[in-house]
Amino acid sequence: MFPDFTSKSAQLYERACKVMPGGNTRTSLFWPPYQIYADRGSGSRVVDVDGVERTDFHYNFTVLIHGHSHPAVVERIQDQAGKITCVSYATEAEIELAELLCSRVPSFEKIRFTNSGTEATMNALKAARGYTGRSKFAKCEGAYHGTFDAFEVSIAPGPDNWGDRKRPASIPASKGTTKGIVDDVVIIPFNDPEGAERILQEHAKDLAAVFMDVMPVRVGLIPASTEFLKMLRDFTTKNGALLILDEVISFRLDHRGGQTVFGIDPDLTTLGKFIGGGLPVGAIAGKDEFMAVFDPRGEGPAVWHGGTFNANPMSMIAGLASMKLLTHESFVRLGTLGEHARERIREVFRIAGIPWQVSGIGSLFRIHPSERELKDYRSYYQSGEEKGQIEWLMVYLLNHGILMNRMGIGALSTVTREEEIEQLAEMLLAGLRAMKKDGIIKEAQR
Ligand code: PMP
Repeated sequence: MFPDFTSKSAQLYERACKVMPGGNTRTSLFWPPYQIYADRGSGSRVVDVDGVERTDFHYNFTVLIHGHSHPAVVERIQDQAGKITCVSYATEAEIELAELLCSRVPSFEKIRFTNSGTEATMNALKAARGYTGRSKFAKCEGAYHGTFDAFEVSIAPGPDNWGDRKRPASIPASKGTTKGIVDDVVIIPFNDPEGAERILQEHAKDLAAVFMDVMPVRVGLIPASTEFLKMLRDFTTKNGALLILDEVISFRLDHRGGQTVFGIDPDLTTLGKFIGGGLPVGAIAGKDEFMAVFDPRGEGPAVWHGGTFNANPMSMIAGLASMKLLTHESFVRLGTLGEHARERIREVFRIAGIPWQVSGIGSLFRIHPSERELKDYRSYYQSGEEKGQIEWLMVYLLNHGILMNRMGIGALSTVTREEEIEQLAEMLLAGLRAMKKDGIIKEAQR
């Protein structure tokens, strides 16, 4: 049972605390009172160091789209490791992965690889600034675009500091974020075309870019409206700013990405997660005109983009193996399975008599402990009590063979089976009943 202070994970955590702040090196993995340590994974199953096996419904925050240790990917990684792992040359593998991605997505005319989604968004911002000569950028309240102080502005504001709904305050998440950085970030309300446009107009001449995620996880994994996306596309085109679509997560929605599903044509796109087949990766892709700022020929690049491990052959080879397995049909199947999972979860809420809801599209889902209509960050925002309820439920699942993340976010993979969705539904129902019995869900919510 979690937590168990005699477990190997708890002991490892104690050891980690001596050499890492709070024993942690990745904030989102901290699951108080300690972290669980992995031993191995295979397909949809993951085993921790205490030998506890769970069905993975998170897949390292959506990365492992073919599950753990897919044989075709492992084989290519093993083969490449024996040949060369990284080198002071380019490799053909980077061209192959670039060709594959550019052939799939119409807006990808050129591409560059990074080591993470954060590096992709940081360098996309640099590209936009280099191209336009402007310094500000806009992002939606609540949206996350990587672990970098500028992108962390207003990722988690609350009622005590978020200000007027029509004019959200810019709230830095990290202490020490300079005033200059905060002043350069324009926060707009998600899915409010008029309100957002009014704010954007005020900064029109200074905006290098608008960053957008069509279904931001931290805004509740709810889709952007067509009107909102259209306003952003029109505004950026008219005012000479770049529309940068952050598809680090939404690229999972279709073999041509979320941009195809939502019918939006961005100037630049940032990628990460599964395109590296489970190894560290990120990418910036987009229109020739904007990507040209990175071109080192002639007088050298207008925008510098180094990186010792950029396009390292291990990530490129693993990414290629993984992406080749992902056909249009794979995404159709993932979408159908995802719809089935969300429907089963809704059914569980009905049977338990608990008016909660589940959001998401394709292979992604998120559980919400409320019945409020979810349309933006503020309607999604969870009270302390609601957060506590989700965390309780996620610990219950953890103790009954299922791994999701603490915030109730889930993902399926191509190896997820219907029986596993049944297992998830069954355990959710049992967990919700236990919550009712223990009074964790109050009468008013039933
Ligand atoms: N953008 C989005 C939408 C993300 O969800 C994330 C990470 N979850 C990032 C950027 C940053 O990617 P990474 O963690 O690979 O740096």
